[in-house]
Amino acid sequence: MSTTALSRDTAPTGARTSPETVPRLALALMAAGAAAVLAAWWHATPSVVGAAGWLDGAGRITGLLAGYLAPVLLLLMARIPILEHRVGSDRLARWHALAGRYMVFLVSAHVVTIIWGYALTDGKGVVSEGVDIIFHYPEMIKGSLGTLLLFGTGIVSARVARRKLRYETWYYLHLATYLAIALAFSHQIVNGADLSVQPEQTLWSAYYVLAALTLGWFRLWMPYVRDRRHKLRVHSVVPEGPGVYSVILKGERLDDLNARPGQFFRLQFQTRNLRWVANPYSLSAAPHPNYLRFTIKSLGDHSSAAARLRPGTKVRAEGPYGAFTEDKARSPQVLLIAAGVGITPIRALFETLPGRLTLLYRAGSDREIIFRRELEDIAHDRGARLVYLVGSRRRHGKTLTPRGLMNLVPDLKAHDVYLCGPEPMQQAVIAALREAGVPTSHIHHESFEF
Ligand SMILES: Cc1cc2nc3c(=O)[nH]c(=O)nc-3n(C[C@H](O)[C@H](O)[C@H](O)COP(=O)(O)OP(=O)(O)OC[C@H]3O[C@@H](n4cnc5c(N)ncnc54)[C@H](O)[C@@H]3O)c2cc1C
Repeated sequence: MSTTALSRDTAPTGARTSPETVPRLALALMAAGAAAVLAAWWHATPSVVGAAGWLDGAGRITGLLAGYLAPVLLLLMARIPILEHRVGSDRLARWHALAGRYMVFLVSAHVVTIIWGYALTDGKGVVSEGVDIIFHYPEMIKGSLGTLLLFGTGIVSARVARRKLRYETWYYLHLATYLAIALAFSHQIVNGADLSVQPEQTLWSAYYVLAALTLGWFRLWMPYVRDRRHKLRVHSVVPEGPGVYSVILKGERLDDLNARPGQFFRLQFQTRNLRWVANPYSLSAAPHPNYLRFTIKSLGDHSSAAARLRPGTKVRAEGPYGAFTEDKARSPQVLLIAAGVGITPIRALFETLPGRLTLLYRAGSDREIIFRRELEDIAHDRGARLVYLVGSRRRHGKTLTPRGLMNLVPDLKAHDVYLCGPEPMQQAVIAALREAGVPTSHIHHESFEF
């Protein structure tokens, strides 16, 4: 079924600064930090002589870079508002995962090159040198335990292992990284030739303390303050479709949250089983000063429990997070593409994005379409175009191809596109949009998988 109404021009959208400014600045800052670390090594190293010297140099550089990267890894996940809003949680999670892989590589290289270099200098075997370093150098037992923990979290984070673990199991095992970093810290200060001098030692310690304070502030203190301030509770749970429920939360002073359509919160329902689990859910309607609405599809323990929530249940909400907002749009013509439960942030954007809107909503069957009435009312009120793409993948095989999209949306190239749906569908549509000539900077997508 397709509902099409005349489009209406409203104020052109367009962010004041490029949406890529903050991500580029963040990357530049991270690179500058790494360069400063290398400069410190260069400054402290008058010359490198012989194989042992080269190995020792490689060990010091990789150790310094790994030590520098540890707080970066944590800061990427510290929920710093400017990063969450302007870089986006999914991109931050990708950077964090990539930095985690670099970290495992750097620590491995550090262990190998340092032990090997010291073995050459002392004229000993690598194994006996390794044993000697671990058990006889100060702070090395803690450093080695930290390294083992880091490798352990690296293993459980590998894609194969992650697929086999429940998200919560993986998440709690992964938290061991904090302990690993804390354990390895004193080893860096005591054993690191470049860090046992001043002012390097003070600066390095200040960097770690600052990272710990930032984490504590944004991940513990701010959620606690917000919790007390907004006093969120389940107001009602409304069935929307097969296995899909809207959870309406009531609270105080919700305007102060500055939540925007397209953003998400990490919700902790305060029931016995769900208290410690914070899962991300997008706003499925524009935020109201007294209510927030989330719409949740039952997939596993957390999402299925949403259907059974009782009115009055307390909820802790961390957020708002996410960069899938109006700020991204550059053009007054916007195409929204949603599939399955990916309609949730798209529904909120459909209600509020300025510009001439077209919404393509892909669902397996009519029964799976949620918010039908609301979407049609919005389309009618805003003069927006709403197209349902209902049926099997085979039937719609050609719809989401470059040609199919260009047929559906004339002047596709001039549109901003907001996209949310299952990962493989997103990848296919992004490729189709690019092939159809839509600039990458005009394609904005929200991933439901971190
Ligand atoms: C930014 C964002 C916004 C989201 N918005 C919505 C929404 O509006 N409505 C909705 O129904 N779903 C949404 N999701 C997906 C939702 O968070 C997961 O489906 C839900 O957490 C599943 O948890 P579970 O314990 O029920 O299932 P599990 O059995 O733990 O997992 C089911 C699947 O969900 C994945 N998953 C579980 N927890 C998380 C998590 N915290 N982060 C990332 N992936 C996870 C697992 O890898 C697995 O593939 C969103 C996800 C993200 C990242």
